[in-house]
Amino acid sequence: MPNQRPLKLLHLYPEEMNLYGDRGNVLALTRRAEWRGLTVEVISRGAGQLVDWDTVDLVFMGGGEDSHQARIVDDFLRLGEALVPRLEQGLPMLAICGAFQLLGQSYETADGQTLPGLGFFDAWTEAGRVRAIGDVVSKTELAVEPPTIVGFENHGGLTYLGSSSQPLGRVLLGRGNNGKDGTEGAVKNHVIGTYLHGSLLPKNPHLTDLLLSWALRYRGVAQELPPLDTELEWTAHGVIVSRAKR
Ligand code: GLN
Repeated sequence: MPNQRPLKLLHLYPEEMNLYGDRGNVLALTRRAEWRGLTVEVISRGAGQLVDWDTVDLVFMGGGEDSHQARIVDDFLRLGEALVPRLEQGLPMLAICGAFQLLGQSYETADGQTLPGLGFFDAWTEAGRVRAIGDVVSKTELAVEPPTIVGFENHGGLTYLGSSSQPLGRVLLGRGNNGKDGTEGAVKNHVIGTYLHGSLLPKNPHLTDLLLSWALRYRGVAQELPPLDTELEWTAHGVIVSRAKR
């Protein structure tokens, strides 16, 4: 596959925001691109570091404990001044759990502190009394086949979507955003917010390829991703889906 320059994947706060193997999402994106002859350059950015936004094609941010979210939130709000306009213009991003919460309007931590979010998603998160922990299967309306997304949730926050928000999926197994309305995650433009760890992407190769195709489109490259042998990944996916059928 012709390749002008590496795809640039910005990994935000890799030290503070990295729970339950979230870093594996970066590996899955990198590998599935490389298997198509693309190269990926991962730019890790911690608090206070600069970003050359004009070269970023895709953004990833993992989940974090309340204390870690509190530690990075001021920096994230400053970063949002450059990030949010680009997300509005189609820059793709995957935000897991604590990162998803901080893309909403606000996050109330377990000890009652309210952290402001970027307000990209019309959503807010309140402190729950019981942590949601376990396998999750959701059915998504994204144009992916199969329409199931699988993962593992572990969060105290309860997220509520505003009327203008679109959920990533509807839960078939697990609690999802708040355990009440059946929603899981959110999608806006090319930004996916979700509670699912796992890591998420190794067991959901259709989402990995969707993010890669969005990144190529954002960069202005009209390129189809050739299919890959993904039998092992679908076997892992199927094991979790079967838990929703018991
Ligand atoms: N600290 C947040 C919560 O408990 C996010 C957790 C996470 O990222 N897994 O809800």
